[in-house]
Amino acid sequence: APVAIICIGMAGSGKTTFMQRINAHLHQHHQHHPTTTAPPYVLNLDPAVRSVPFESNIDIRDSVNYKEVMKQYNLGPNGGILTSLNLFSTKIDQVMGLLEKRCLPQPASQTQQQETKTDILPSHILIDTPGQIEVFVWSASGAILLSALASSFPTVIAYIIDTPRTTENTSTFMSNMLYAISILYKTRLPMILVFNKTDVKAETDAVEWMRDFEAFQAALKKEEEEHEREGSGYMGSLLNSMSLVLEEFYNALSVVGVSSMTGVGIPLFFDAVEAKRAEFERDYRPEMQRRR
Ligand code: GDP
Ligand code: MG
Repeated sequence: APVAIICIGMAGSGKTTFMQRINAHLHQHHQHHPTTTAPPYVLNLDPAVRSVPFESNIDIRDSVNYKEVMKQYNLGPNGGILTSLNLFSTKIDQVMGLLEKRCLPQPASQTQQQETKTDILPSHILIDTPGQIEVFVWSASGAILLSALASSFPTVIAYIIDTPRTTENTSTFMSNMLYAISILYKTRLPMILVFNKTDVKAETDAVEWMRDFEAFQAALKKEEEEHEREGSGYMGSLLNSMSLVLEEFYNALSVVGVSSMTGVGIPLFFDAVEAKRAEFERDYRPEMQRRR
């Protein structure tokens, strides 16, 4: 079965650009091996995006008109996205039916079909999510979509991070990491941290802060000295103790640095996907079957 990669991250982290890049990468792979893999199967779940820079097989905008939803229910942007997602999730059976038909081997029914039918299936399903992360992650419909996906396909979360922004200071970094970890807990799916925009700033600081508690503490101390912040004692000790608690969770994640702009790091990302696919088969699938 193909692996489903679902891109989640803060608005502006580069989810859509990353989707475009991994989509292009897989298309290229398909062109080099046309007889073994089909191009990826692509879903856009962002109802509010103006234009999608990649071709998608299923687009939420084809079934829900975000602007109309806002008008009709008198909603703001976030309410509009949430309601659009809810409307879309009522069609989850149709969506899954389509996905299974296009991405899983079909039992050959008629001889005529058998002849025309090829066994070339996509190796990846790519899913883009709304810019506003909380709408997808903390809504019932987001949970419905995720669990439906994960019950049919090995599913991996790519948590996209704006590296230059997130390493501006230790508290931005820590809040982004806490968000990733809460998603890890909520979804219980394997996760890859994708440090994006490495063409602007390398991921080295972020990775060091994750792996090395003392490096994080040193950065924190330096900030406190630089800013002599009012009340920094409280903030500092909070961040300190969080970094201790979080250290062990970091080890559960795969981490890659990429530039969606230049394509640097993309092969490493796909290596991580294969590792997480194996992890899904080993740890997550049995767990899901037990829960059912
Ligand atoms: P989304 O809201 O998470 O879907 O983010 P977008 O993909 O729309 O990207 C937000 C902004 O970041 C856009 O201006 C992109 O051009 C920019 N961006 C995305 N990836 C990269 C990258 O790897 N490097 C640089 N320099 N900019 C990027
Ligand atoms: Mg986007």
